[in-house]
Amino acid sequence: MSDQPSTTYQHLQKALQHSGCPVCRIGKQAAHKYLDSILYESVTDPNSRAQLVNSFGFCYHHSRELLDFSGERLASAIIEQSILREAMRRLKSKQSPPKRSLRQTFQAGMNRPQYQSVTVTDPAPGHACMACAEQQASEGRAIEALLKHLIGDLAVPLQHAGGLCWTHLQLALQLAYKPAIYNAIGSIHEQIWTALNANLDEFIRKNDYRFRHEAMTDEESASIERAIAILTGEHPHS
Ligand SMILES: [Zn+2]
Ligand SMILES: [Zn+2]
Repeated sequence: MSDQPSTTYQHLQKALQHSGCPVCRIGKQAAHKYLDSILYESVTDPNSRAQLVNSFGFCYHHSRELLDFSGERLASAIIEQSILREAMRRLKSKQSPPKRSLRQTFQAGMNRPQYQSVTVTDPAPGHACMACAEQQASEGRAIEALLKHLIGDLAVPLQHAGGLCWTHLQLALQLAYKPAIYNAIGSIHEQIWTALNANLDEFIRKNDYRFRHEAMTDEESASIERAIAILTGEHPHS
């Protein structure tokens, strides 16, 4: 644990050299690294595969990401088959109908305690995705390190990178333990989003036929993608 802050800090410094939310970037890298290791382990080690099957595999995004590793379609097939077999086992063990059907519960007015009493207890696919857990843990560490080193250090690189996405800013505001840090992270994003809003204004204005002769700047052209990334998080292909 003792070397974690400095390792995370180094990851942050690297991530801040790119445009876009550094916390999204670090989280995705951590999940990717985890998938890389689990892909090998879960095929060669039965205990590791049993653990994966027990958690019902990965979520949609991380299951698809397995296929990005070159030459690993066979390993993915072995993993997915184990989970499919687990799904078949679970289906078999549910051959008797529930006492009160879901339809009756909906007719009863979707009363929440009743609804919960008849829903299946097994997690849905991806419910307990271990890659998501790894991603979230590393995102939390990245936000803590960012806040710790923000003032006088990472504030300017964060501004140049375009700040955090909405979700990670909310987390950062919750974790900001000093008013000065809370205010600093808030005002950085006010500035970035004000500038982005102005770029969107210009993009929209210049699409008007009366102003089409005015050249679009790179920032104005990219403003839609930036807004999507801020509002929904950075995605691998954005
Ligand atoms: Zn983010
Ligand atoms: Zn996941």
